[in-house]
Amino acid sequence: MEAVDCVVVGAGVVGIAVARALAGAGREVLVLEAAEGIGTGASSRNSEVIHAGIYYPTGSLRARHSTRGRRLLYAFCASHGVAHNKCGKLIVATDRAELAKVETLLAQGLKNGVEGLEMIGGNAARALEAELSCICALSSPESGIVDSHGYMRALWGELEDNGGSIAFETPVERLAYVSGQWRVAFGGRDAGSATFDAVVNSAGLGAQALARRIDGYPAAKVPPLVLAKGNYFAFAGRPVFSRLIYPTPVDGGLGVHVTLDLAGRMRFGPDVEWIDHESYTVDPRRADSFYQRIRAYWPGLPDGSLVPDYCGIRPKLTGPGQTAADFMIAAEPAHGMPRLVNLFGIESPGLTSSLSLAEDVVDYLVA
Ligand SMILES: Cc1cc2nc3c(=O)[nH]c(=O)nc-3n(C[C@H](O)[C@H](O)[C@H](O)COP(=O)(O)OP(=O)(O)OC[C@H]3O[C@@H](n4cnc5c(N)ncnc54)[C@H](O)[C@@H]3O)c2cc1C
Repeated sequence: MEAVDCVVVGAGVVGIAVARALAGAGREVLVLEAAEGIGTGASSRNSEVIHAGIYYPTGSLRARHSTRGRRLLYAFCASHGVAHNKCGKLIVATDRAELAKVETLLAQGLKNGVEGLEMIGGNAARALEAELSCICALSSPESGIVDSHGYMRALWGELEDNGGSIAFETPVERLAYVSGQWRVAFGGRDAGSATFDAVVNSAGLGAQALARRIDGYPAAKVPPLVLAKGNYFAFAGRPVFSRLIYPTPVDGGLGVHVTLDLAGRMRFGPDVEWIDHESYTVDPRRADSFYQRIRAYWPGLPDGSLVPDYCGIRPKLTGPGQTAADFMIAAEPAHGMPRLVNLFGIESPGLTSSLSLAEDVVDYLVA
């Protein structure tokens, strides 16, 4: 491998968005990916929801990147022919305690500058979605869904148009800053090493492990990794909702919600299952709690209609009962190593935020 300007580790949606932005800024870019294709991690195991930016504390990276990223993403989808649907979303309150939570979310969303938010009564919500049971709902017309693979393919295409490329089956094993350059050792079929000017660690669940293999990287600057699995169940029947339907959030997640794909099919999830090692099987016994939670807002959910589907793992930095951590973008000011950006804790809404996160990473690396 010849010397290339920038290396991005990980070809998930964030890594590819960063690589495309660096290539667009005139850098030579190579993405090194352990798997055999793009987006095999969290990027293909999520709800494919374009979040409006309601939930996150004002001023946090999650608030800033989801609102800005959402606007950038809709514009990108429109200009690049990526399938998407700004179908809107209802966050429902089914009792008075939840009403207070939904009101708090409305205030938070307005503070975050989310457009079009509106509180509607139970009857108005049922006029939109006849099967819904709730006393009121927060309507978010800016929320939507996207074909995440179509989106990643479009990013990859632009990366290549600007001279960048992705090397698959190339796990990065070690990084060292030697004589003003980054020496990157990688395994796989064509194992070897190469030098780069700048490094972006966008390895998702592997980001902390990789940071620990950077020679001289301060161990205290590697945050904990907490795995929060999210399981999905598909609905075996005719879809009854045309918008995203969310309950109020729970510890570690946004609650078991109705998600739709672009063909209009319904599925439910993700729940929150704290785990200590990566595993991608969905336990069918979790269906019981799904029926119970979904029937709070959709009493008509038929028995036997939920089928175990897929799951994803959120790379969280905090565990159960703790205040949810923000995204962490660790560049030179955070750790003291030149032209190195580590992306930690890029869980939801990372898909929505990807274009905005990419802009920030470019700002750190391109003077
Ligand atoms: C259950 C769930 C639901 C979600 N729902 C939504 C949603 O609706 N909307 C939204 O905006 N966001 C959502 N998210 C968040 C979103 O999916 C992630 O934030 C996003 O996909 C993260 O992308 P990434 O590129 O950082 O990570 P990943 O997609 O995980 O990519 C990391 C890549 O790095 C590679 N890698 C790891 N280690 C190495 C190494 N040493 N060398 C080379 N390659 C390596 C991996 O193989 C992988 O391909 C959800 C996440 C989950 C888990």
